[in-house]
Amino acid sequence: MSLSALTYIARRGMATKLTVKSMAIIGSGQMGAGIAQVAAATGHKVVLCDTAGDILEKAQAGIQKSLQRVVKKKYADDPEKGQEFITNTMANIETTTEPAKAVVTADLVVEAIVENLAVKQDLFRTLDKFAPAKTIFASNTSSLPITAIADSTKRQDKFAGLHFFNPVPVMKLVEVVRAPGTSQEVYECLMDFSKAIGKHPVTCKDTPGFLVNRLLVPYMLESVRLYERGDGSKEDIDVAMKLGAGYPMGPFELLDYVGLDTCKFIIDGWHELEPENPLFEPSQLLNELVAAGKHGKKTGEGFYKYN
Ligand code: NAD
Repeated sequence: MSLSALTYIARRGMATKLTVKSMAIIGSGQMGAGIAQVAAATGHKVVLCDTAGDILEKAQAGIQKSLQRVVKKKYADDPEKGQEFITNTMANIETTTEPAKAVVTADLVVEAIVENLAVKQDLFRTLDKFAPAKTIFASNTSSLPITAIADSTKRQDKFAGLHFFNPVPVMKLVEVVRAPGTSQEVYECLMDFSKAIGKHPVTCKDTPGFLVNRLLVPYMLESVRLYERGDGSKEDIDVAMKLGAGYPMGPFELLDYVGLDTCKFIIDGWHELEPENPLFEPSQLLNELVAAGKHGKKTGEGFYKYN
């Protein structure tokens, strides 16, 4: 073995292993609340932060309700133990409306705020000033480049993507996104953390959509184009993918579930990055539906109508 290889191994051996015991989660919406729940349920101290007290109260109530569903299944034979699990989990969650306060003792910060690059950069610029040097920063962005968000800080080595899936308590996958600047120790720490909260991590590079959305978004857009060309009805395309490919939802049902506005935002951003890529071509029909306020299930109408 060469001397440089030995030096490398010795250095790696000496490097202290980073572990996450306490964390701050910025943004307590669908994703932030879900991440807080699974982290707190596995014994991590969580500070959950949002812009207003009533939003945080709603998030806490949502977590409590979600935990009751977990307990109903997991502790069906021992309700007392189930109640204890809920009490202990909720006791691990503190809330604040001050991001600077949320991060003062955090080993890890997970950001789950609005999907807007400038807003995320602004937040991390502030957090960078108040978080200790040891604190790892992670973004739960679905579509923005991790490198561009990390560039707003001075800790590129301690910055990565940690992409959870909705609903977080149910979905097992976490994409751990290694940007070019992410250190090996930080990457390993995030892989360990993902396992510690009961998830299955996969490793991704910082490329548009990482793994899942890089395949899923072009698939959904191609389904819209198939329908626009008149090659099949949306109902038949949905049935085809459910019965022929074994997918739990058809692409139009999935588009409505994810939100047409979100899908448009993602594809427009990627199209801007790679205008020549036919897989990132925007869709006229999708644009029209979004302009008409038909954003899917959440607005009562998208490709389908909902009561
Ligand atoms: P959401 O709208 O449900 O929640 C966002 C929360 O962030 C809101 O409560 C809002 O008040 C809060 N917020 C906004 N700006 C803030 C700030 N500066 N400081 C503190 N809080 C702030 O959104 P979501 O669906 O939870 O998505 C959050 C992030 O997760 C986005 O980047 C999104 O792309 C990503 N994501 C979403 C999904 C999904 O299916 N919804 C899946 C994976 C990743």
